[in-house]
Amino acid sequence: MNLSCQKQHNILIVDDIADNLRVLSNTLKDKGYRIRCAKSGIVALKAAAKMVPDLILLDINMPNMNGYEVCQKLKSEAATRNVPVIFLSALSDILDKVKAFEVGGLDYITKPFQVEEVLIRVKNQLDLQAAKAEVESLNQQLEQKVKERTLQLKISNQKLATANQQLQQEIIVRQKAEQQLIHDALYDGLTKLPNRTLLIDRIDRALQRVKRNPNHLFALLFIDLDRFKLINDNLGHLVGDKLLMAIAKILAEDLRTMDTVARLGGDEFVILLDDIHSLKDATLVGDRLQEKLSIPLDLEGHQISTSASIGIVLSSSSYRNSSEILRDADIAMYRAKEKGKSRYEIFDQAMYVQTLKAIELEHNLRLALENQEFSLFYQPIISLENNRLAGFEALIRWQHPHHGFIPPMEFISLAEDTGLILELGDWILQEACQQLAAWQKRYNYISGIDALKVNVNIACQQFQKSDFIDKLDQIIVETNLNPACLRLEITERVLLDSEINTQETLSEIRKRQIKLSIDDFGTGYSSLSYLSRLPIDNLKIDRSFITNINSDLESWEIINTIITLAHNLGMDAIAEGVETMEQAQKLQSLGCEYAQGYLFAKPLPVKAIELMLASNSSRELSCVPVQ
Ligand code: C2E
Ligand code: MG
Ligand code: MG
Repeated sequence: MNLSCQKQHNILIVDDIADNLRVLSNTLKDKGYRIRCAKSGIVALKAAAKMVPDLILLDINMPNMNGYEVCQKLKSEAATRNVPVIFLSALSDILDKVKAFEVGGLDYITKPFQVEEVLIRVKNQLDLQAAKAEVESLNQQLEQKVKERTLQLKISNQKLATANQQLQQEIIVRQKAEQQLIHDALYDGLTKLPNRTLLIDRIDRALQRVKRNPNHLFALLFIDLDRFKLINDNLGHLVGDKLLMAIAKILAEDLRTMDTVARLGGDEFVILLDDIHSLKDATLVGDRLQEKLSIPLDLEGHQISTSASIGIVLSSSSYRNSSEILRDADIAMYRAKEKGKSRYEIFDQAMYVQTLKAIELEHNLRLALENQEFSLFYQPIISLENNRLAGFEALIRWQHPHHGFIPPMEFISLAEDTGLILELGDWILQEACQQLAAWQKRYNYISGIDALKVNVNIACQQFQKSDFIDKLDQIIVETNLNPACLRLEITERVLLDSEINTQETLSEIRKRQIKLSIDDFGTGYSSLSYLSRLPIDNLKIDRSFITNINSDLESWEIINTIITLAHNLGMDAIAEGVETMEQAQKLQSLGCEYAQGYLFAKPLPVKAIELMLASNSSRELSCVPVQ
């Protein structure tokens, strides 16, 4: 066996007998081992310390220090602790095998040596050592791998933990966003109150409770602020928003947790009072709200007084869904508005019937426009100076095929509410201008006919339309009427409305020489200074003052003031609703220029006016009082 190609092992042979050393050394050298020899234990220890051998062949029986002692010393040193020791012992010696193993020997060989045995035992031990070393190295590698894997696992775990944390955070963010979305879908952004969707849900739930238990009672309070638009338009949206927020706070105060205050939109709020005992619980809340709202609010330095119109409706098992009960609360709220605002009204069946009637009326109005059921009547306007005809006021009449004559008071405001007034107003203006132009042409032999004016009532919405002036121009061109013969009657409401550029529209009208009259003067809130700056030609004194001119000193004084005011501002005055000679005489004595009323003529159809014009044989237009 030649070990030259393998690692050359380093063997230390320790024996006090030179022959033994030589024989062993030669035998092993032949087999390719590097051999060092030591003749005593002391030398052996030194040699081993200097260069650690791979194996020691150690004689037991040596003078001074025997093999056991040498072995013990070797095992006590860290460097040599693991060097395998094979004891050498003469056959004649008594080998203490137990001791040999106890002190750390791994094997023993008996002398005289048998070369093959020595070689095999040496080789076995070296192989065993190599195997041990390999196992150790593998163990180390394994440990290293385990360490590396453990580290990797730790890093992966950390990464996983970080990822988990991020995921958790993301989930929280998402959940928050989701909650926000749900919140936004159910709450009003400005006031933070529940919105329509949430309210409807709560009403539906309350209705279900009523269905399960007919004794369960709840109420809805439909609240609409009075004059909110005016505040919003005049003081700006910022103040408007602050007002809505302040109102929301007031409405939410003192309510129980089971109640809901919601904002429907704009200046509309609804309170759902759940589980109440009687209507009284709801009216108490209504009273309390009116009281609280009457306290002026300080918003952005403005003292704002506000009030609300409230519609109250009580639950009943006949309501099938939330929209039905909300509709009725809304109807009651409108009734509160009609009755002068700043109050509450309780819904009843009669209100519902009236609303149905209004809906039907609206439908009929639309049909009437299509079917041309409208016509104009003309009421003469008389000069009080000489009783001569000065013009006519065109007044609309609706001849309904089934319901007969319907007076304007019953449909004009509905036409205004529904916007139908725009279409109707265009037709009235066109028709009145065309009619006067035709009369002027037909009765051109009557002196003064060219100066006759036709007064046309113009609704607020018509005036507000941006194309109103264009419409006027078009009608003037089409009808060929002298624009100076047209007089537009507008109400004080038009002048008060801040939404439109009133001044500019009025000047455009003035530029065209069209005249302007303020209708029903004295019933609105015109500021006098404002009035002086506007190009108005004429004030029409409201009929309510004329009726009482003889009996009531106050009315007389108001009339006197209006006439004086008109004259001071360079305007004329027309008295409306003159029914008696005394009224006419009083007005004449006060310097009122014109009058209109049953004393002279009622509003008349075209045919009657034509008869009147044709009968003016004197070729002068006069209209004598009909007593
Ligand atoms: P108004 O413009 O103030 O019209 C005068 C109203 O007083 C007319 O009522 C007229 O018939 C009535 N009247 C005139 N003299 C007397 C009188 O001596 N005694 C009494 N008791 N009444 C008299 P009418 O025609 O029923 O119109 C009512 C209101 O409807 C009008 O008030 C006006 O505001 C509106 N209206 C009428 N026609 C039109 C129209 O063509 N367009 C618009 N936008 N509104 C109109
Ligand atoms: Mg009028
Ligand atoms: Mg009037």
